[in-house]
Amino acid sequence: MRVFTFDTTLRDGTQGEAVTFSADDKLLVLHKLDELGIDYVEGGWPGSNPKDKDFFARAKDVKLKHTRLAAFGATRLARNKVEDDVSVNALVDAGTPVVTIFGKSWDLHVHRALNISENENLALITDTVKYLKAHGKEVVYDAEHFFDGYVNNRDFALRTIEAAKMAGADVICLCDTNGGMLTSRLGEICADIRKRFDGVLGIHTHNDCELAVANALAAIEQGFAHVQGCTNGYGERCGNANLTTIIANLELKMDHTTIGKERLAHLTAAARFIAELANLPMRGDQAYVGHSAFAHKGGVHVSAVLKDSTTYEHVSPKVVGNRQRVLLSDLSGRGSVLYKLKQHGLEDRLDDAARRDLLDRMKQLEFQGYELEAAEGTFELLVREALRPGQQFFEVVSYETTSKSNGTTAATVTLKAQDGIHSATASGNGPVNALDLALRQCLSSLYPSISDVQLTDYKVRVLDFRKGTAARVRVLIEWSDHRRSWSTVGVSENVIEASWLALVDALRLELMRLSEQDSDVSRAVEDYCWGV
Ligand SMILES: [Zn+2]
Repeated sequence: MRVFTFDTTLRDGTQGEAVTFSADDKLLVLHKLDELGIDYVEGGWPGSNPKDKDFFARAKDVKLKHTRLAAFGATRLARNKVEDDVSVNALVDAGTPVVTIFGKSWDLHVHRALNISENENLALITDTVKYLKAHGKEVVYDAEHFFDGYVNNRDFALRTIEAAKMAGADVICLCDTNGGMLTSRLGEICADIRKRFDGVLGIHTHNDCELAVANALAAIEQGFAHVQGCTNGYGERCGNANLTTIIANLELKMDHTTIGKERLAHLTAAARFIAELANLPMRGDQAYVGHSAFAHKGGVHVSAVLKDSTTYEHVSPKVVGNRQRVLLSDLSGRGSVLYKLKQHGLEDRLDDAARRDLLDRMKQLEFQGYELEAAEGTFELLVREALRPGQQFFEVVSYETTSKSNGTTAATVTLKAQDGIHSATASGNGPVNALDLALRQCLSSLYPSISDVQLTDYKVRVLDFRKGTAARVRVLIEWSDHRRSWSTVGVSENVIEASWLALVDALRLELMRLSEQDSDVSRAVEDYCWGV
């Protein structure tokens, strides 16, 4: 069956607590969803705020290849004639080919929220749908709280969607607005509605019982051919149905067509692009498109997956544009280390003892609280050290910091290099900044190109929080040298020491890279540490 996809990230998604998009961001999201082959994109409420009004004004000039843009609003106010209703007219003026309007299906809302009679509510629906149809719009009618309304007063709920249908609505979309429905009950209700109504039926579910995706799929199993949701499941409270997951399930598990198999390979990139615009970290464990969705860590899993990926992967990551990752950690056996070394032609460079040492070192560090998956830089350093044992650029003799009452900090660092002792003092706006400056000052006379490396982010995580201020902390520092970025990690009970360890490792790594810049081994290490 062809199932039409309706993405409401720009409307319902932005009602999520952490989600905001500027009008520029919204246009970029619209383009991305158009490229992905989403059938409808709901852009916002033109009648409710100036930002959405601006978006619709600008969207008029956008040439879309596939997507039909929808404006969203409510049925007319009870006190207004439809032609005089400002919000309904704002929907017409938005200039979109599609308009979504929501109306009440739950008698509780009609009596309590609108304070009107049931028949008056039906008139609001009829008038508004007719008016929009008369203006040439494709109308999607969202039956708000339909399932709660059906459970509470079935006849009334049915009459509301009948009114929308009779007035000419193109899609009748049933909404589980409070997200409280269980899948089996929702499926039964959808089956009943399918029997009573012909034409396109839609489903709009929320994730308050973590069932939004399952509920949307249950409706589609009953023959519903229009599905609403948000990219990455953004939305109010616990979010909307995750449209990204729904699309993959429909295409790969249920033999329905949405964006098509070819575009499905762009699903991961689109989901991550939109997360980036929303300025939200992508959930690692998100189905199909998360960073960890095809990551293998346990030794048994890794060795099986390397023989045949179907042993621990329900689909091939490639079909959704994701990739398999083999993680190195205290759980992984020698198999995964060897696999990765082999993949990059490094296996022969290390003898058995060196490979074992490398693995032991990794396990030891992870036991102390290092997280090598998140700190590619520290991991790369370990591999380089295993390949070049004994290569030393400098030794730390001492370091110390002193905080001043004006908020600045001074740091003094003393290093021993081949040509003798180097010492430097610097002040910064905190101990980490001061140590960073003093360390570079020491090294820059010996290795001038070290100054290209910049600290770009600094994160501290408490490891055993029950110990309060005496707890061990993990410091993760991100670096960039204009070409790429990487992270290094340090763990200690002392936050300054943890930061220092991460600082020193970052600069030691950069020196190793610079000294071997043109060698095959160096390139292979980079591919090894970054490519898989
Ligand atoms: Zn909703």
